[in-house]
Amino acid sequence: MLSFDVEEHDRIEAAVGLSVSAGRRREYADRMAAATHRLLDQLAAAGNVSATFYVVGQIAETHPRLVRAIADAGHEIGSHSHSHTRVHRLTPRAFREDLRRSVDALQQVTGRPVFGFRAPTFSVTRATDWAVDALIESGLRYDSSVFPVRHDRYGVSDAPRHPFWLEGEAGRILELPLLTLRLMGRNVPVAGGGYFRLFPPALMRAGLRQLPADAAVGMLYFHPWEFDPDQPRLPLARVSRWRTYVGVGKTTDRLNELLTRYRGRFRRAIDVAEELEDQADRLPRFRLAVDPAAVINSVYSPSAA
Ligand SMILES: [Zn+2]
Repeated sequence: MLSFDVEEHDRIEAAVGLSVSAGRRREYADRMAAATHRLLDQLAAAGNVSATFYVVGQIAETHPRLVRAIADAGHEIGSHSHSHTRVHRLTPRAFREDLRRSVDALQQVTGRPVFGFRAPTFSVTRATDWAVDALIESGLRYDSSVFPVRHDRYGVSDAPRHPFWLEGEAGRILELPLLTLRLMGRNVPVAGGGYFRLFPPALMRAGLRQLPADAAVGMLYFHPWEFDPDQPRLPLARVSRWRTYVGVGKTTDRLNELLTRYRGRFRRAIDVAEELEDQADRLPRFRLAVDPAAVINSVYSPSAA
């Protein structure tokens, strides 16, 4: 599964707190639309590859024609929240409201239902376990926000690496986790983004090769701004700057290489989700919420005493 998180460049997590002029914001918005159109052309030229675009709800309001163009090209439109606020920064009530607004805005411009969600910066984690119930109750069919890695800003390092049922109090929702490579006892993130720009392409290929034959679906992710090497740089601190811009000149060629290598094998996340719903009992179950009894047992276990 190929996915694109559609957001203006100045919405990235590293830019939170930066002051970006209104003119620069407009420029990033225009460049986002242009880069997304180029991606649509690239996917069409590669044999009408279908992908999933997780779009920030506010973009449905500011760029309705862009969102319609994506949907009209046969791609799936999912929600990437309404305001691109990390789940950690929202109360449960504000998260529900933000999610609802994004789904409404996206559905309104495309006239098609939204089935999937990707949280900004993969911010569905143990710290935001309450979000699972909000997702279940929203009526969405699947979520793709869990990155089974250890990272300073996100990640659930012990989550299953392949599709699973994310369980909450309110029931369960299908989770399509981001692709990882199991290497020397650790999960290495190889799904896209900065990893796609930084790591040699062989690592992503190795992650795809590790997929089990009976569940050979891997979720990849990219952002339109990563395919716009000439965009003005944000005034980021050194490490952030490096993380953000490393390899942006190589991405278009790398994506083309990927599209050629796996020609005929790309599917939209919703199509995979529908197929997995039919094999519901085969999928593992996983809870983000830590069972209080398990914590007490681990703290007061006889071995620790
Ligand atoms: Zn994002």
